[in-house]
Amino acid sequence: MFVEDMGIDLGTASVLVYKKGEGIVLHEPSVVAIDKNTDKIIAVGEEARRMLGRTPGHIIATRPLREGVIADYDTTEKMLSYFIRKAIGNKMFKPRVIVCIPTGATDVEERAVRQATIASGAKKAYLIEEPLAAALGAGMNIADATGSMIVDIGGGTSDIAVLSLGGIVCNRSLRVGGDKFDEAIIRYIRREHQLMIGDRSAEEVKMAIGTAWVSDENRHKTADVRGRDLVSGLPKTITMSSEECWYAMEEPVMEVVNAVKKVLEITPPELSADIVNNGIIMTGGGCLLDGLDILLSERTGLPVIIAEDAISCVARGTGRALHEIHTLVKTESQGTKRIV
Ligand code: ADP
Ligand code: MG
Repeated sequence: MFVEDMGIDLGTASVLVYKKGEGIVLHEPSVVAIDKNTDKIIAVGEEARRMLGRTPGHIIATRPLREGVIADYDTTEKMLSYFIRKAIGNKMFKPRVIVCIPTGATDVEERAVRQATIASGAKKAYLIEEPLAAALGAGMNIADATGSMIVDIGGGTSDIAVLSLGGIVCNRSLRVGGDKFDEAIIRYIRREHQLMIGDRSAEEVKMAIGTAWVSDENRHKTADVRGRDLVSGLPKTITMSSEECWYAMEEPVMEVVNAVKKVLEITPPELSADIVNNGIIMTGGGCLLDGLDILLSERTGLPVIIAEDAISCVARGTGRALHEIHTLVKTESQGTKRIV
């Protein structure tokens, strides 16, 4: 029977599916809308995202992986099933599926992912740790003995890992990512402008004018932000600058930078030398924050490279892992677990 293989990046912000021979076939937000009265799922992905913050009382739109790890594994399982089925289509064959999991995932969470994958019609389910997939997606040769550092900044978490010989030498995962940058913007605007804004507006502001490196060129960039005035209760628009945006986000952004420094401090010296040569590779949507590469490079004294197509890096990496599945399964102890 013809077997079609599939790689999945199960992220806190979005899910991407990579199909052998086709590339990325699905890219949707990790959002699920549930009817609280019946416990039924109303919508998944893009459709559910449009409902976030706009739903009537009995419908809740949630992100099952919001806190980085799998906060709600029943819902995660259902969401994953939905995406796998959508990517398979009405075909009869069963694919082999490889899903990346966060480095901090517990056994229970791993089992939930595996169950969901099998329940959705996969013939075999494999798991790969996210930093390895990110490195593969960034085109790195992870099997050799040269040390490399991957910093993946997602929605809910940032994962920092030093890799060598196809395994993770040291790493740190923190529950700070793009979502925390958005929340910081929300808090700042509430405090300084007495304006209440939603998650999506905050993310839009971050992408439009947010910066981690204030310069003469971007200092005066501004954007209009709409929300509800906390005093009058009426809709209001304010103008925010890039510089203000940096004040708002400084704390969570610096948490990521400091975590990278901590990992560098515990990196074995031979591998540190390699990282000096190769630089730090950044992946994930969060690394696209303007100026973050400059900030990280300034604070570590190392070259920082944003991987090409940073958002789909992990998904493409799982795809590459599929091509190399035979070698990876053999290196079970080195980060890729064959679980079925
Ligand atoms: P995950 O792996 O958790 O699903 P992603 O790698 O998809 O996350 O990254 C999602 C995060 O990246 C979100 O917080 C989003 O706001 C942020 N992001 C995406 N594009 C940009 C951009 N151009 N500038 C700043 N942040 C961005
Ligand atoms: Mg990710």
